[in-house]
Amino acid sequence: MRQVVIIGAGPTGLTLAMLLAQRGIPVKLIEAATNFRRTFRGEALMPSGLEAIDQMGLADLVADIPHRALDAWEFIVENRLLFRVDEPIELGGKPCTLISQPAFLAAVLARASQYPNFEFIAGTAVRDLIWQDERVMGVTLSDNRSISADLVIGADGRNSIVRTKANLDLDREPQSYNILWFKLSSSPAFEAENIFYSVLSGSDAFGLFLGSEGQLQVGWSLPDGKDEPERAKDWQHLDWIEKLSAASPDWLAAAFRQQAASIERPFLLSVTVGRAPCWYVPGLLLLGDAAHPMSPIRAQGINMSLRDAIVATNHLVPLLQQSSVELAALDRVLPQIQAEREPEIVQIQQLQRDEIAQGELLRHYPLIRYGASRIVPKVPLLRNRIRQSWIDRQLQLRRGITRVSLVV
Ligand SMILES: Cc1cc2nc3c(=O)[nH]c(=O)nc-3n(C[C@H](O)[C@H](O)[C@H](O)COP(=O)(O)OP(=O)(O)OC[C@H]3O[C@@H](n4cnc5c(N)ncnc54)[C@H](O)[C@@H]3O)c2cc1C
Repeated sequence: MRQVVIIGAGPTGLTLAMLLAQRGIPVKLIEAATNFRRTFRGEALMPSGLEAIDQMGLADLVADIPHRALDAWEFIVENRLLFRVDEPIELGGKPCTLISQPAFLAAVLARASQYPNFEFIAGTAVRDLIWQDERVMGVTLSDNRSISADLVIGADGRNSIVRTKANLDLDREPQSYNILWFKLSSSPAFEAENIFYSVLSGSDAFGLFLGSEGQLQVGWSLPDGKDEPERAKDWQHLDWIEKLSAASPDWLAAAFRQQAASIERPFLLSVTVGRAPCWYVPGLLLLGDAAHPMSPIRAQGINMSLRDAIVATNHLVPLLQQSSVELAALDRVLPQIQAEREPEIVQIQQLQRDEIAQGELLRHYPLIRYGASRIVPKVPLLRNRIRQSWIDRQLQLRRGITRVSLVV
């Protein structure tokens, strides 16, 4: 049978490897890191991602690992609550859920490892591709090993080396922001309900939630991302508890100060967003962030990754299960995978841009911010209209755009 080699054991690579291995396909999965506890991995899953997990038969794994459903979203502008929306937003739907990604990945790896046709090579990065007659036929690793493949899948994330080595372009969106990430201990103010807070004060903006593993997580957004690596040293020395408190209503400032001793040093997460115009060359396909790095806004990237894995499985398995499928037949199916996934990615990235634009409007125009914080909370009709328009925008971000069903 044909050998598939997948690069990157993030949500895209691991779930695809598990689905292929489960269907009898020989799969090697190569991961640069030695464990899944990298400094930061997103953990919010929307109903579209939760449904993908159900379809993959992994819902039982989630039940056994740290996870926490969100109870509500609250938007605080200039210390005043603009509006609140309870979860789940859709009647009878699933709530957005925070799932420990390291634990999830470890559990999927354990599931994939049950299959004798699955092999995991960890702690060794892919360094280059092996080409033969203008077709990719394998990869070389940082320890100089060569691994042959009939099909290589690049699932190595937003800075994909596979994409670069395959000479595939990435159309990057102009970067407008980066994120500083902090963790600190929780306090009773956050235990009764798990609320995702979006806080805006002057030009300061941050998101806050209680993560799946019980720590408070804060993402502080940094507009205009150009000089940040140089400025990162200065941030290490700022009194972040005071900076967060100054942008917060009194109850939240008190909670921050109470946990001051537990705050970890901020970690700069550079946000790359974009799309490769072409996701494949003969013998190789990009999926997940390698093909279309997603913005963190409204938690889309993992969901899109899981849906990519399902669509790729649907297309690849019927061919790979044939004992001697021609390589040309495999290559012909790669454009079909991009064609099926790309329309959803294009629209979701547009919806993410729209979300960012709303926040930037408030951030850049003090008059709009003032009106939003002083007038909207006092005029129920206006508040309900703004709240409803936010809910309407969320529905596609939660359900996804296209129908994705695992059919093989
Ligand atoms: C700040 C931030 C917050 C986010 N929050 C969320 C969220 O809450 N919910 C959500 O849905 N999405 C979120 N996202 C987006 C999400 O993290 C990504 O879209 C998602 O992780 C993409 O999955 P992936 O498997 O394609 O890539 P990754 O998760 O990036 O996995 C790629 C893997 O490839 C490995 N790798 C890289 N290079 C090599 C190499 N040369 N050889 C071998 N292995 C290699 C890496 O070690 C990694 O394990 C967030 C993104 C950011 C930046």
